[in-house]
Amino acid sequence: MTALAFTRTEADRLPTAEREAILADPGFGNHFTDHMVSISWSVDAGWHDAEVLPYGPLQVDPASSVLHYGQEIFEGLKAYRRPDGSIVTFRADANARRLNTSADRLALPELPEELFVAAVNELLHVDADWVPSGEDQSLYLRPFMIADESFLGVRAAQKARFLIIASPAGAYFTGGVKPVSIWLSKDLARAGRGGTGAAKCGGNYASSLLPTRIAAANGCAQVLFTDSATEDTIDELGGMNLFIVRADGTLITPRTNGNILDGITRSSLIRLAEARGHRVEERDVTVREWREGVADGSITEAFACGTAAVITPIQALIGEEGTLLDFGAGAPGELTMSLREELTGIQFGTVADPFGWVTEVVPANAGAAA
Ligand SMILES: *Cc1c(COP(=O)(O)O)cnc(C)c1O
Repeated sequence: MTALAFTRTEADRLPTAEREAILADPGFGNHFTDHMVSISWSVDAGWHDAEVLPYGPLQVDPASSVLHYGQEIFEGLKAYRRPDGSIVTFRADANARRLNTSADRLALPELPEELFVAAVNELLHVDADWVPSGEDQSLYLRPFMIADESFLGVRAAQKARFLIIASPAGAYFTGGVKPVSIWLSKDLARAGRGGTGAAKCGGNYASSLLPTRIAAANGCAQVLFTDSATEDTIDELGGMNLFIVRADGTLITPRTNGNILDGITRSSLIRLAEARGHRVEERDVTVREWREGVADGSITEAFACGTAAVITPIQALIGEEGTLLDFGAGAPGELTMSLREELTGIQFGTVADPFGWVTEVVPANAGAAA
C-alpha cells in the first residue's frame, strides 16, 4: 500500500511571467500552484488512486459528510529554496505523524507516513518553479483530509480523501519583525477537557473565529485561550503556541495537556533552546504568573510560534479589563529574535542543521516537472 504509485495529469501551467509576478509579492494564502495531490480512501479499498492533478474545484456531493459534521483535519508545512536553488522541507515526517494523531481523534483513517511524505515530494517536484527565492519567502503546503461519504447518518464516514494544495508565502513581517498585542479570551473557549483541542481540525478554527473578531475589534492580532475550567491556566493562541521567557533565560511553555496542539515549531524551539543550555519548563502556567512576572521584572519576553510566522514577539496582553501586561520597549526580546534567526536559518539552509530536520527534495538546478 505504501508503494502506491502516483499518476500525474499535467495542468496548463500559468505563464512564467504571471507566476513570477505572483512570486514577487505572494502575501499568504492568496495564490495556488498549478497542481494538487489527491488520494482516495474507502473502508473496502483502503488508500487508492494517488494522483497529481491540475489545481481546481472538487466535485463534492451535497450530502458529503464533511459538509454536515465537520469531519476534517489538516496540516501546514513549508518548502524552502536554499541559496543554491535546491528545495527542502522541514520535519515533514513530524507533520505526517501529527496528521495521524488528528485522524485518530476525528475517526478518520490513518495515512501511512511514507505516503504523506511521498505526496508532499510529488507536488514539490511538479510545482518546483512555485517555490519562491526571495528573502523569508517559502511555499506553504496544506495537506488535509475530509470525510467524503454521501450519507447523513451520524457515524464515522466510510470514505475519505486526502489532498495537498500549495500556496506561495511572502515574508510574514514586511519591514522588520513587529511585536503584536494579543487578546485574552475568557468566556469563549476553543477547547475543553476531552475535546478536540489537540487535533489539528477545522472545527477548532471555526470556534476561534468569533473570539478572533472580538480581538481584532480591540486592536489585537491574536487570541490567547485559557483552560476553560480554570480560566487562568494558559493553553495557546488560536493557531500558535506560547512561550514566556524569564530574565534568567528559562523558557516556560504550557505542557501538551490534551487541549493544545503539539506544534512542530514549539518542539523545535525547545530543542534549540536546550541545545544552547537554556532551561525549558513544559508545565501549567497561568495568566496571573505571567502578569506578576512582568510586573516584578522576572519575566522579560514572550512570543507565539507556528509554521506560518515562525516566531511572533508579543508586546502586550489585553483583556476586558484593559491592558493586563505590556513589555513596552522590551519587545521584541533578544532571545526571541535570536531563536527566530537560528530556526529560520536552519530552514533556509544558511545555518547548519545538527538536528537532521531538513530534507532535500529537489536538487539544485533541477528544472520544473523533474
Ligand atoms: C498548527 C497549529 C499550531 C502550530 O503548529 P506548528 O506545527 O508549529 O505549525 C499551534 N496551534 C494550533 C491550534 C495549530 O493549529
